[in-house]
Amino acid sequence: MDNAIFNERINELVEHAESSQKRVKKEKPQLKESIYSLTLDELKQWLNENGEKPFRATQIYEWLYNKRVKTFDEMTNLSKQLRDKLKENFAFTTLSTIVKQESKDGTIKFLFQLQDNYSIETVLMRHDYGNSVCVTTQVGCRIGCTFCASTLGGLKRHLLAGEIVEQVVKVQQTLDEVGERVSHVVIMGIGEPFDNYDAMMKFLKVINHEKGLNIGARHITVSTSGIIPKIYQFADEQLQINFALSLHAPNQELRERLMPIARAYKLDKLMEAIRYYTNKTGRRVTFEYGLFGGVNDSIEHAEELAQLIKGIKSHVNLIPVNYVPERDYVRTPRNQIFAFEKALKKNGVNVTIRREHGSDIDAACGQLRAKERVHETR
Ligand code: SAH
Repeated sequence: MDNAIFNERINELVEHAESSQKRVKKEKPQLKESIYSLTLDELKQWLNENGEKPFRATQIYEWLYNKRVKTFDEMTNLSKQLRDKLKENFAFTTLSTIVKQESKDGTIKFLFQLQDNYSIETVLMRHDYGNSVCVTTQVGCRIGCTFCASTLGGLKRHLLAGEIVEQVVKVQQTLDEVGERVSHVVIMGIGEPFDNYDAMMKFLKVINHEKGLNIGARHITVSTSGIIPKIYQFADEQLQINFALSLHAPNQELRERLMPIARAYKLDKLMEAIRYYTNKTGRRVTFEYGLFGGVNDSIEHAEELAQLIKGIKSHVNLIPVNYVPERDYVRTPRNQIFAFEKALKKNGVNVTIRREHGSDIDAACGQLRAKERVHETR
């Protein structure tokens, strides 16, 4: 499907979503948790409380994450009575796939509709080392980064843990058709994961569990705009999960201009939190640094950045800015990107330049948006 048709289809959906949202507001529906929102322990506990044997939890997990069935009725080793109880208490699925759009490079962007008709995006990227899914954690975002599309309409709501898990399950079900596996997950879609911390942690537990999707912690990356208290909390979890910080600027003044969150969480305190993380976990941190033409991409900025992160076990990922129509940032010219990289290397920094995925279908970093905004912005 080409981009124009995709966007047209989205506009139709947006109108539909808006009219039903008006209804929804009046009716105030409860969001039903899906079965995918439960950790194995929670499921055991629920079974116990409902007069069932806890070992059923492992059987249910097997159906959900190994056999990847699509209804409760396919769980044939459970009694009809238990299946009915599950149906009464949980939704099986809370996401419906509205659009699947494939890019020339094999990237697939999924548009999913939620129970309350909001829609979210999830991206599957094909790498030589495996298949990586970029998941969304919120409908919209309230962080307000001046270069990012996800924040344009503000935050509508947090996703439930099950809604995040289901994104990966749905992508895995698509890959099942070609006998491939989701090997990596990046929490870098719409939203700020540390602003929906508990749901994010539950999501991590489910996808990482060997009886869940069994995606290794070292194959999972979470990225934050820098919510300091949550960085401490995350460090104390002592997980092997990869951790990335969207830094984007080498000093307080510039960071405030790009990311208003820097006013609340100052750069010096943020770097303290990052040091705490690397010391506590022994793991390195990835600094994401978007290159915004004429803003933060001079050699002086590179040197200032090298100075700022000196001594921190880290790696810098340079992201050439992705075009967002509502934002007027421009790309740093290629030779300048290489000069910036070189200046960092000269100062002893580990650095790579991020490869783009799915830019022809607006699936690249910072281009995902909560779709109910589309008709206002395009
Ligand atoms: N809220 C989290 C997760 C988003 S990850 C965070 O801020 O880290 C998406 C990454 O893409 C972040 O590093 C974000 O700063 C970056 N990004 C956003 N808009 C972009 C754009 N237009 N061009 C390039 N990178 C962008």
